[in-house]
Amino acid sequence: MTTQWLENTRSTDLETVGGKGASLGELTDAGLPVPPGFVVTAETYRTFLETAGIETKLFEEILAVDADDSAGLAAAAAEARDLIRDTPLPETVREDILTAYRELGEQSDSETNGQGSEPFVAVRSSATAEDLPDASFAGQHETFLNVTEEDLVERVKACWASLFSERAVHYRNNNGFDHASVDIAVVVQQMVDAEKSGVMFTCHPSTGDRQMIIESAWGLGEAVVSGAVSPDHYVIDPDTAEIVESTIADKKQQMIKDPETGETALQPVDAERRTARVVTDEEIEQLIELGRLVEDHYGEPQDVEWAIVDGEVFMLQSRPITTIDTGPEREGVSETADAPTVDGGLSSDEQQAAALEESTEEADEVLVRGVSASPGKGSGEVRIIKKLDHLDQVTDGDIIVSKMTMPDMVPAMKRAAAIITDEGGMTSHASIVSREMGVPAVVGTRDATQVLTDGQLVTVDGDMGVVREGGPAEEDDESAIQPDPVESVRPQTPVKPMTATEVKVNLSIPEAAERAEATGADGVGLLRIEHMVISLGKTPEQYIEDHGEDAYISELVDGIRTVAEEFYPRPVRARTLDAPTDEFRELKGGTDEPHEHNPMLGYRGIRRSLDKPDPFRCELAAFKRLFDVGYDNVELMLPLVNDAEDVERAKLLMEDVGIDPEKVRWGVMVETPASALLIEEIAAAGIDFVSFGTNDLTQYTLAVDRNNQHVVDRFDELHPGVLKLIESTIETCRELGVDTSICGQAASKPPMVDFLVEQGVSSISANIDAVRDVQHEVKRMEQKLLLDSVR
Ligand code: PEP
Ligand code: MG
Repeated sequence: MTTQWLENTRSTDLETVGGKGASLGELTDAGLPVPPGFVVTAETYRTFLETAGIETKLFEEILAVDADDSAGLAAAAAEARDLIRDTPLPETVREDILTAYRELGEQSDSETNGQGSEPFVAVRSSATAEDLPDASFAGQHETFLNVTEEDLVERVKACWASLFSERAVHYRNNNGFDHASVDIAVVVQQMVDAEKSGVMFTCHPSTGDRQMIIESAWGLGEAVVSGAVSPDHYVIDPDTAEIVESTIADKKQQMIKDPETGETALQPVDAERRTARVVTDEEIEQLIELGRLVEDHYGEPQDVEWAIVDGEVFMLQSRPITTIDTGPEREGVSETADAPTVDGGLSSDEQQAAALEESTEEADEVLVRGVSASPGKGSGEVRIIKKLDHLDQVTDGDIIVSKMTMPDMVPAMKRAAAIITDEGGMTSHASIVSREMGVPAVVGTRDATQVLTDGQLVTVDGDMGVVREGGPAEEDDESAIQPDPVESVRPQTPVKPMTATEVKVNLSIPEAAERAEATGADGVGLLRIEHMVISLGKTPEQYIEDHGEDAYISELVDGIRTVAEEFYPRPVRARTLDAPTDEFRELKGGTDEPHEHNPMLGYRGIRRSLDKPDPFRCELAAFKRLFDVGYDNVELMLPLVNDAEDVERAKLLMEDVGIDPEKVRWGVMVETPASALLIEEIAAAGIDFVSFGTNDLTQYTLAVDRNNQHVVDRFDELHPGVLKLIESTIETCRELGVDTSICGQAASKPPMVDFLVEQGVSSISANIDAVRDVQHEVKRMEQKLLLDSVR
């Protein structure tokens, strides 16, 4: 049986439909309001492996790696996923899945916002070991929203492939699971076009107290579950249905479906709804009732995902709460203390129970929230950094808390367990550096330097964008405390999907070159030299005055060569200096820097280089030395040009130091609307490539300061205005034979990747932690385009 309807599914069907499928089937059977759907059974996954004859290859060859060989393991996982994705599905299976999908469309009714015969569905992995208390695979497998017939089969296969994510493979190896014995089913369920949604815990998720917790936000629940928005929060007494505590959050974003493309994306919430209450009293009553029903049904506390459309509540998922601490060994509590029982009863010893409650509440308290800038978790003592001379106080494993980070802080940031800043967004210095170094970071918290205190023990959750009081949660094993050991710290082998569009990596710190190379990137699409320069502790002018031009050139040569050597013969695109004046001010010699109202619009990039040609000539001389000693993989890129005049003037200076622009590869960043609009004239200067700096292109197109947290919601690299500029530039460049690339932060976003591949961009350069995903997204999109062209 390829598929099985949820309404015919019971909890005993776990082997066939996986944990999620069984749970949804059981809820449907219990008469709870679950959107209709079916499950592509685990048997189908098995049949696929068998019919395609790939079982031996998958389990006995690819996955037979030594558990301690992390690089080999990463490569094996990638190869396993590719094998699943690239192996065609038997035609009969494909037809069965599509037939069930069409039937689901016919069943569609107004209750679930049915969209007729081509409904939007959610496609979710449902591993047979998932959601079991001993094998908490939850969250490690894929979920796709708003899928339609076109992508359905591909998404089902992507769910199968997610069984071999590096994390899952690593987890299974470490916990003694046999890869061959874990099956996966896939739930295909009608999407509920949620106006509001959230989660509900039928008892306190960590203390087990008899309290119901409801969290709610606008749009789809993924925004709440992933931590992208801070939801409204209610604590409810389940006996009286009384709200004992409520916090209405500023919900800046919502996850909604774009009515035209059908894609789900985070969108800003209108001003009047941001601070408005999401659920009405009546809806809270419905949720409480639902919570009671589902808890009664299972006989244990549940963690429920719910959604509301037209005042009607739907249940999307329910799982037992696995985080309740039932063990007595918590720090500071006597071993004999009775833990609260799962059903909410309290310890017999009131004093000890109170102590337990206090300590667990403390451990869970969210102190500040911000943007999840770099993934992973880190615990340690807070070091508030107000002035540069405090940096030596940061010792190994501390948490750096500062208004903003500066390149001078990089050595201290390398020692830190995590980084928290008041200001900045995904493209700020703190975000870029911490991602490159694999250090967890939460930025743009507004007030972390005020709220946190020196020496305080905290845990930074870079995935959720929150900072909690206390050390690591007990359920986090050691590997979870640091950034994912397999995916982001240990070098990965260069096994990767073959793509026609090159996928490169961005780099700022030469010491991270080895990590960057290990991603299997096709080169470096952006090597920023600001960090090399600013870590000298002096402005370029001051450094030259103190040590001479030759010493400055040598510093640059050393930094760029480290990267060029690591990647040789793959290209390394180094960019000439582009640091705003505020980053120079703290350095020796920085007192002469102009005070600018908005440094982002000021004296930086090519403007400064042309205005102060002496330090710029030294940078160019460093390139010349590298070319002369044979680093023909080095490419030269000019930042923040506006027009042909900027480029021609820089070209003259290149020639001045002896670089022949005809013999080396050089190009420009497209970061201002002017440069995009005038690309034809700029290209006439003889450039080989352009690279979209979408961080700047977005801020200048939308007039949204990229470092200003007050307008962070408006910073949208996928804004049609930005896309239009990119589209026309790529078109012109293709006609002129100029390569196109992207090296802004947006290169890590799947919709941007899809857009660029479709437009025919030559390469995409992403952050270290995103390279793998971008490689797969590029491949997926290229295959889709190929298929579309022959269909
Ligand atoms: C950009 O603007 O997108 C870019 C890559 O340059 P930077 O972030 O260094 O300004
Ligand atoms: Mg830029």
